[in-house]
Amino acid sequence: MTNTTSSLPQFSPVIVGTMRFGSWGAQMDRPTLEKLVDACVDLGLYDFDLADIYGDYTEEAHLGEVLKGRKDLVQRLRLTTKCGIKMLADNRPSHRIKSYDSTGKHILQSVDQSLQDLGVEQIEILLLHRPDYLMDPHEVSEVFTRLQEAGKVKFFGVSNFSTSQFSLLNSLFPLVTNQVELSLLQAQALDDGTLDQCFQLGIQPTVWSPFGGGALFGETDDPRLQKIKSTAESIGERHQATIDQVLLAWIFKHPSRIVPIVGSTKISRIASALKATEIQLTHEEWYELLEAAKGHEVA
Ligand code: NAP
Repeated sequence: MTNTTSSLPQFSPVIVGTMRFGSWGAQMDRPTLEKLVDACVDLGLYDFDLADIYGDYTEEAHLGEVLKGRKDLVQRLRLTTKCGIKMLADNRPSHRIKSYDSTGKHILQSVDQSLQDLGVEQIEILLLHRPDYLMDPHEVSEVFTRLQEAGKVKFFGVSNFSTSQFSLLNSLFPLVTNQVELSLLQAQALDDGTLDQCFQLGIQPTVWSPFGGGALFGETDDPRLQKIKSTAESIGERHQATIDQVLLAWIFKHPSRIVPIVGSTKISRIASALKATEIQLTHEEWYELLEAAKGHEVA
């Protein structure tokens, strides 16, 4: 199924990832988080990426504490959240083992919980977090339709789906993105058809861990990381850009109009990421970075 332009979401150039805001990372208190959200909005960054499981099922409520007192923010933010992974957690005593669940019952329950925790009436985009071998695409399509008709969710997508898994669900319900991992450390999406499929369908891929979860920064004695960093640094000198900006410019250059989800908890780094949209790498620079990451010639 191909989406028409009017039925596609708008994305800011970068999406703000929330996975490290709370107990899985920076443990921001409410005022600090509110300040960060406000600063992102001031930069024009309205898209925030969440998941039910972040912070062991606490991150949505963490952001919700800010949103509940700030209806102005609720109106401006576009919240993506995910469901479908069942983790072991104290606040989910019914989960006996870690597993996947994309049954209608689980999706409906999860969305209601997310809306309640976030204190909002509508989620912009709901993603199935990971493929579930037992997914019944007819059941998922029916539940997506119900959620859309009820106004609880505006758009739907998937995350970490193979191209065939994506095609299967997309043949029954129009999906708006496949959120996959992409960085110079994990570039499988270039070859496995994910980006081509999104391009062909006219939807934007969204990508997580664009900096390899932070592995591409800091001191390292790993020769591959050193080579990527030194290559990014010398390309950066040509463009008056920092390493993080070069790494994102490498993602932006792909013609499929990728939207990276940056995971920093610091506004200066999020702002720096946004500036990467101004950098135009040459074809040769793009391949120079790929060569550094692969450790051999790529053409
Ligand atoms: P990332 O942007 O690759 O890594 C962020 C980490 O890099 C943070 O710990 C950050 O620390 C660190 N960092 C160090 N120097 C930095 C610099 N100069 N600029 C930016 N960051 C720097 O991404 P990620 O956090 O792994 O993932 C991003 C988002 O993707 C998550 O928040 C989540 O929303 C989403 N995600 C989705 C999936 C999925 O399966 N769909 C999986 C993982 C993540 P500081 O905070 O100190 O800056």
